[in-house]
Amino acid sequence: ETIAQTIDRLGAVIPDYPQPGVVFRDLTPVFADGPALRGVVDALTAPFEGRFDYVVGVEARGFLLAAAAAYASGKGVITVRKPGKLPREVFAENYSLEYGEGTLELHRDDMPAGSRVLILDDVLATGGTLAAAARLLRKAGAEVAGFGVVLELGELGGRERLGDTPVEALVRY
Ligand code: 5GP
Repeated sequence: ETIAQTIDRLGAVIPDYPQPGVVFRDLTPVFADGPALRGVVDALTAPFEGRFDYVVGVEARGFLLAAAAAYASGKGVITVRKPGKLPREVFAENYSLEYGEGTLELHRDDMPAGSRVLILDDVLATGGTLAAAARLLRKAGAEVAGFGVVLELGELGGRERLGDTPVEALVRY
């Protein structure tokens, strides 16, 4: 079984969550399976090996992937968070997503300028979240080496919002 087949087998599909008309893909059963979690993390980091200094996770499901990927790579982990969670000076970026609006924040001094970062999240939908995360990292002087997601919801066109930066998606629906 390939990692894509494992994700497809374990992932759950929830119609009308969190609101009517949205089909939500739930990856918690993938994260709960030891070999699947390891396979996902290894597949997300492999294409970027030697090309990043930090792994960035987007709150909250991205934290799970980023911490595991950072540990496996011997790198540090950086958190991009919902508003009001980070205690020191932050950069902030507003964005819109499939359902609603949001703001993401990043500490201004979490890493030296010029650091290369790999940004991870569970799902790429409209791309608003990862685009906002990339803007934050660039404001902080980082170079975005790439994006990694477990699932890409292709029809929402998220990849186009991420420009020329490489995007690794393990499964595309
Ligand atoms: P985007 O900003 O690309 O529209 O949405 C991506 C963000 O919303 C990610 O942080 C992701 O966790 C969440 N998201 C959007 N749709 C889904 C979904 O179907 N399943 C999951 N697990 N997360 C989703």
